[in-house]
Amino acid sequence: MRLVLIGPPGVGKGTQGQRLIEHFKIPHVATGDMLRAHVREASDLGKRAQAVMSKGNLVPDELIQEMVATRLREPATHEGFLLDGFPRTVPQAVGLAIILERMDVQLDAIIALEVRQEILLTRLTARRTCAHCGTVYNLVIQPPKIMGKCDNCGSGELVQREDDQPETINERMEVYNRQTAPLLSYYRPTGLLHEIDGDGPVEVIFQRILAVLPAGK
Ligand code: AMP
Repeated sequence: MRLVLIGPPGVGKGTQGQRLIEHFKIPHVATGDMLRAHVREASDLGKRAQAVMSKGNLVPDELIQEMVATRLREPATHEGFLLDGFPRTVPQAVGLAIILERMDVQLDAIIALEVRQEILLTRLTARRTCAHCGTVYNLVIQPPKIMGKCDNCGSGELVQREDDQPETINERMEVYNRQTAPLLSYYRPTGLLHEIDGDGPVEVIFQRILAVLPAGK
């Protein structure tokens, strides 16, 4: 299964992405996570990306393109993958089409998750991430079992992402509307785009996604 997951910040791409990779046993190619790993390691790419990311803007297309192309050349992604957070601009989508053509493979579906703006803001301000293992929580809809403690590794360091501060959230929303939303018009004529209501319990949304995906992949 070769999938693309698109949606505004806070729509639940990470949560649904996790369910999808477990269900289809495919690698999660999440460009935001890959970039944050580069920032932590202080690699050349990480140093270039950090300032842009902390302001809520997009990392230049050519840097992202190269990072994704390298990942998709790895044998682990040959049988399938979930692209999460990429493409985020029309030029990135064009770049992805070229990468896939060279690999002689095609996408099976593009899932666009949609939620009203007010809900997105509430979700983003309540998001916390474990500083040790990266598990993501939402203090309102998906809190850890013991407040302030990671269910997965027991760490007491549940932190807010730097780009989840209120001023940065607004910028990311604008960037989404200006640069990423046009992807919907780009993908609609392919017949592979499925626009899914991302409001409701996690499991219900997951079933909505499964219902539109091709069977037997
Ligand atoms: P995310 O975790 O998907 O919300 O991404 C966090 C940040 O990483 C974004 O706000 C961008 O600064 C950067 N980023 C992630 N994916 C991309 C992409 N495909 N193109 C450009 N920047 C990206």
